[in-house]
Amino acid sequence: MKKQRKVFASILLAVLLLLGSGAQTVGAAGFKDHVKSYEWEQLYLTNRERLKQNLQPVSTFIKITQAARVRSKETVSNFSHIRPDGSSCFTALNQANVPYSWAGENIAAGCGTPMVATTAWMNSAGHRQNILTSQYTHLGVGYYNQPGSQYVHYWTQLFTGGCSVNSLSVYNMKTGKALGSTTLQVKKGTKLDDMELAGRVTCPTHGTSYFPLDAALCSGYSASKTSGTQTVTLSAYGLKATFKVFVLSALQSEKAPVLKRSLSGRNTVKLQWTAVNGAEKYQLYRKTKNGSYQRIATVTGTSYTDKKAVPGNLYYYRVRAIRGSETGKYSTNRSIQIQTAAPKILKATPGSGKIIVSWTPLKGADGYEVWCSVNGGSYRKARNILNGTTGQANHLNLSKGNYTYKVRAFWTENGKRVCGSFSGTCKATL
Ligand SMILES: [Zn+2]
Repeated sequence: MKKQRKVFASILLAVLLLLGSGAQTVGAAGFKDHVKSYEWEQLYLTNRERLKQNLQPVSTFIKITQAARVRSKETVSNFSHIRPDGSSCFTALNQANVPYSWAGENIAAGCGTPMVATTAWMNSAGHRQNILTSQYTHLGVGYYNQPGSQYVHYWTQLFTGGCSVNSLSVYNMKTGKALGSTTLQVKKGTKLDDMELAGRVTCPTHGTSYFPLDAALCSGYSASKTSGTQTVTLSAYGLKATFKVFVLSALQSEKAPVLKRSLSGRNTVKLQWTAVNGAEKYQLYRKTKNGSYQRIATVTGTSYTDKKAVPGNLYYYRVRAIRGSETGKYSTNRSIQIQTAAPKILKATPGSGKIIVSWTPLKGADGYEVWCSVNGGSYRKARNILNGTTGQANHLNLSKGNYTYKVRAFWTENGKRVCGSFSGTCKATL
């Protein structure tokens, strides 16, 4: 095939006031390194212009990018389409082993960002013509930054054309893998162009190449539809590729609240959690060990006191943020054992004129009442223990007889003493 070369001799020197920030050089390692680079962004902007004119996008690959980088470096000292060795700019393609039947080169110097370079080229007829040539299939963008040189920023576009693209798929630039059947999860409002996706194409001459995904080539996506998986279709070069996107609601994109719980009193559970950005209210859920979650409260703050826990039950709690009809992620389930109402009495040990009564303390109790029946009489309160962690009491100054004991815990709730159930009984004889 006869090589048709297009050389635009118009030289663009966009001298700008440069503040020295934002410039970056790009590593030449894996293809993934192109993402976020000035070169990838410039390719994106070039395709934006092509798509506006209903042209197919141009795609890039490592070798053509490397050729463009060689050219940008050369233009630092020799801003021309003729290389320092006197040969045409397109010999850089030959040296990088990039076959071509059509080729074109744009160069620019002094443009500090991909957008500035793109705008400068689009405002120049010859460069614009290159960007909007329908026959081009590929583009290598080379950016070279040399502080202290005359123009600091050096840009090259090397176009090649005439390829027939024979496959199209979607590539995840973030993971460096084909998207395949994986569903991409994105935040509500995320634009297709901001998902770090690429169209991956193959052609018989150059193998695999990539172009930044552009919404103008896609259908079937709504950034605000937060229910259900969306199948999006990418159409280019007369081919189609589909991929799946799930849009998370704004609250689902936030971290789940972190829930803490503690037992307070006889049957009261205090719940506290971390705030979630954007939350309007929080929903509290509770379940018993083998039950299912039931909503027990909806509150605006980040704490709640469950006063309806039943002694003896094991509960699980979880909380989530809501805003309107939007729901956030559930916190991790947190369990808590509500103490039984009655302590377990262990023994009554006779001593000299006294009996020592012992029991197993209840978690959260404020104290215990020890009741005693002497010689089969009615029970009377023998001791008041004002310490919930104590499991023992001395019954002193006793005369001979048969003593039967039972114990109950108490809790102070709203200034009042609330007593639990009595334990079983325990006997001792003096
Ligand atoms: Zn090709």
